[in-house]
Amino acid sequence: MRSQAQLIRNVNDNTTELIFMKDRVGRLIYANAATLRLMGKCEKDIGTADSALFHNMAEYHPIHANDLRVMETGESISVEEPYTGVDGACRIFRSTKSPLRDDAGQIIGVIGVSTDISTLKEAEQTLRDADHRKDEFLAMLAHELRNPLAAIRYAGQVLQCTDADAQTLRSAAEILNRQVAHMVRQVDDLLDVSRISRGSIELRKECTELAPIVRDAVEASRPLFARLDQQLTVTLPPSAMHVYGDPIRLAQIVGNLLNNASKFTDRGGRIWLTVQHEDEQAMIRVRDTGIGIPTHELSRIFDMFGQVDSSLERARDGLGLGLALVKNLVEMHGGTVGAASDGLGKGSEFVLRLPLVTGQPQPAALEQPVAARPVATAARRILIADDNQDSADMLRTLFEFMGHDVRTAADGLEAVEAAAMFHPDVVVLDIGMPRLNGYEAARRIREQQRGNGLTLIALSGWNREEDRQRSQREGFDAHLVKPVDLTALTMLLGESERD
Ligand code: ADP
Repeated sequence: MRSQAQLIRNVNDNTTELIFMKDRVGRLIYANAATLRLMGKCEKDIGTADSALFHNMAEYHPIHANDLRVMETGESISVEEPYTGVDGACRIFRSTKSPLRDDAGQIIGVIGVSTDISTLKEAEQTLRDADHRKDEFLAMLAHELRNPLAAIRYAGQVLQCTDADAQTLRSAAEILNRQVAHMVRQVDDLLDVSRISRGSIELRKECTELAPIVRDAVEASRPLFARLDQQLTVTLPPSAMHVYGDPIRLAQIVGNLLNNASKFTDRGGRIWLTVQHEDEQAMIRVRDTGIGIPTHELSRIFDMFGQVDSSLERARDGLGLGLALVKNLVEMHGGTVGAASDGLGKGSEFVLRLPLVTGQPQPAALEQPVAARPVATAARRILIADDNQDSADMLRTLFEFMGHDVRTAADGLEAVEAAAMFHPDVVVLDIGMPRLNGYEAARRIREQQRGNGLTLIALSGWNREEDRQRSQREGFDAHLVKPVDLTALTMLLGESERD
């Protein structure tokens, strides 16, 4: 039978908690195995003066002061104490210290139990940092959205001026469109980033020729260069180069680099886009004569929200997401991307490498239609259901300008009733609507006498694969995402005509 003392000793020596006792002058009276291990001491060191137990003397005074407090007040305390062990690592302990008394109740020292809470503290700090970054991000997002919103508000007010001339009205409308496109891009980037961080981004890879993709991206960004009188020189390879990738994402990657080149280059600057063959790889280079990037920031700019510390002169719009997206998308294509710059004011160069498809590419996959199909011209009967009255009214005006006969409905029930009376060729249905949602409305419209012959288009703020599949299951012919791209919509009208 083991003695009580032996049992207690066994328990004490098998815990990771530090258990110790010190006398009034700080000499160690007792230390369990964990305490001795941490200090790098052994049983024979019991009795050693407190100060000899420290590997970092800066930690001695606050710990000693805690011990004195306990002995002076006779009360227990619970405190956080940093302590550096014999291995040189500094850990944070939560220590509960109480007075050690003799049989007569006199305080003869201090007894302590300390738990290592370093991991907890680190996690706490990580959470605090993340929370701080979130606050910063929200502030930045609000700021970023305010810029285009300010322009949109001014443009809206200009459009209200009844005596404004046609040219002024046209340019206000152009500004409106441009700024909205800018906001749509920001929101798309945000969604992509969230998809990437959840690992749910999907690539639709196919064997595809690089030059048409690059040309599309160049065409899309031409207005940017034109507005700032920047000269863009594009050099494409003499023969076709094929990669296995998602054409839309590849165009997004190149577009992003071109956007940045324009954004970070002053008026009148130059930009070169070169695509060439290099060691079984496609190399895409975007070089500019812009503001450049300090060497120590070159790797950071690919981090999420990574932006070069901005002085007001350097400040440009942006959330710091574009390059993070570029890097992720490029890596999902098995490629690499890097940045180079000779420093501030010396321009920047981004080099993108993608593996080439060698051997004979599948001809079918190459015959991608590049040009948009013609838009509908014949007059259609169109029903628009959207609980956002402004949105429904503007879409109605646009369709009426195109010569279509249009009705609007403010919710799902109204839409079902209007469809029965109006016999539309095309119904554009918002999904989230009061009284009856878009899915239910679609089902009821399909059940109507002429319901099967009409084209049903879902208009939704959601663009996940599951949302698209749901629209298809519920009987929609197409799923478009808000704010809807008018070209896509008019193309669908054209298709409904051929039915
Ligand atoms: P954003 O442009 O929204 O800030 P990006 O992720 O596209 O975000 O770029 C991150 C940062 O990299 C930018 O804020 C900028 O400081 C720097 N940067 C990107 N492209 C260039 C460029 N061509 N010239 C100079 N700096 C650039």
